[in-house]
Amino acid sequence: MHEECFGEGPFTFRLNDAGSGPQLLTQVCLERGWKEYNLDSGDQWNLWWKASGFPANYHRNLYSWQYINHIPKGSSICRKDNLVRHLRCMKKIYGNIYDFSPHGYNLPVEYTKLAAECNKPRTMNAKDQSEGYFDANPIWICKPVAQSQGRGIFLFRNLSELNYDTNTIVQKYIERPLLIGGYKFDLRLYVCIPSYHPLTIYMYREGLARFGTDKFTLNDLRNPFRHLTNSSINKLGPGYAEMKDRVGSGCKWTLKQLRRYFRQAGISDWLLWQKISVLVVLTVLSQVPQVPPTSNCFEFFGFDVLIDHLLKPWLLEVNLSPALGNDCDADQSVKKPMLHDLFDLLGLPLYNTGLSVFSIWNEDFKENNRELCANKNATLSVMNAAGRWRKKQRQKSARPKSSSRYKPKSPSKPKIRKQKSENKDSSHWGNGKDWTIGPKREGGWIKLCPFNERTQFYSYLEKGSAKQIVCQLTKWMRSAKEIAKTHPHASECQLNEFLAKDVELMGEVWIPPI
Ligand code: ADP
Repeated sequence: MHEECFGEGPFTFRLNDAGSGPQLLTQVCLERGWKEYNLDSGDQWNLWWKASGFPANYHRNLYSWQYINHIPKGSSICRKDNLVRHLRCMKKIYGNIYDFSPHGYNLPVEYTKLAAECNKPRTMNAKDQSEGYFDANPIWICKPVAQSQGRGIFLFRNLSELNYDTNTIVQKYIERPLLIGGYKFDLRLYVCIPSYHPLTIYMYREGLARFGTDKFTLNDLRNPFRHLTNSSINKLGPGYAEMKDRVGSGCKWTLKQLRRYFRQAGISDWLLWQKISVLVVLTVLSQVPQVPPTSNCFEFFGFDVLIDHLLKPWLLEVNLSPALGNDCDADQSVKKPMLHDLFDLLGLPLYNTGLSVFSIWNEDFKENNRELCANKNATLSVMNAAGRWRKKQRQKSARPKSSSRYKPKSPSKPKIRKQKSENKDSSHWGNGKDWTIGPKREGGWIKLCPFNERTQFYSYLEKGSAKQIVCQLTKWMRSAKEIAKTHPHASECQLNEFLAKDVELMGEVWIPPI
């Protein structure tokens, strides 16, 4: 690896307005031997990570060795009102496969529709009952579009209680979420889109379950600790430190802990994870037509998913800048390896810092996580990220440069300004990163799309491709349901094998660790 291909000097990272609690991000960047940017460095930075988006044409002025964490027009699903609009539109075209977002209205534009729905004389129908509604008068949740972390959210039953002064969405409230020890929880899943053309989607195997800290009940709609699962709210609540039934103290579990609980409680969850991976691809697909071909950028999303009492996943929202704070053991053990693996996936370098990654991780880890130290896998995960990266670089330098099969017709390529030290061969990342042959897996990141030869063909998103990808996902869902039904006692490995065969999977089935 030649350092010059990343511009002059050491690999430099630049964080500003990096979102809530970027400590772990800074830590990971420093562990990789990167230097923190200061304003005197001008445009000598390699990775710029921002919570909000970059100005529209910003990516056009990037050097070939610069990378930014947002894709132009690549994050419209992160606005609550756009998400409602996109998914509603897809549902109209493709039908019930898009039935994973609670029914919602954008206010003020759709106020009259909401009013008509609320004032309609209602009796409980079979669909309401199957979705767990208790009352002919459903509960609604009101969420301001431009807010996050649970701010400005409230629940109501009657239209007269609705009060809003800004763009807002009003959604049907999922009244019967799956509870653990009486507490509501939702999932935070990490998704990376390194390229929209060809469409390439990865999801991390680990993630978080985030709990409310007061027991869930519909008799008290005002208490946010019962109904909202945002950790930014719950970590300030009176129940946070308490030892709660089954949940324990705090408000977060890793997905591994959650799956262990499912196993102990006799809940078979294999089908649930299949539904979730299909939901993620369908959601990303809903915004793809608007995104132009670009390079030297990626999106890193946090998907929030609620599971109901029938183990059906509901998409609540997609976060543009998932929190990278370090509030507890679960944060540390999930987010740190996830970020190292993310940078490996994107092909960003890891330099020798003098300290081995093992010792950085180990010291840090021992200090903060006595309990988790018993879990050797967490340590190994970062070691492996470093080892894998070095191995890959060795293989790359031994291998002749592969030519890209994908040539966009009139790509809006980044303007590559000539620079003395710029390496002519920028194939290591950015322009040269060829996502038509992106890895099936990088550490804990598993490729969700394309997943078989057909979706690979259609990932170039020519006319009619979205339809073909939805068809393949429909087949995936049908097969998964059938397999779960006909093999109730099969092991997870067997179920994965059956599915892989049925859908002609090229990589592996995404499922959180157990
Ligand atoms: P924010 O961007 O403010 O976090 P979210 O849409 O994620 O907004 O909602 C915050 C929390 O409210 C979620 O974590 C979840 O616990 C709860 N919530 C949101 N929408 C629904 C819904 N339709 N049904 C049930 N709970 C919901």
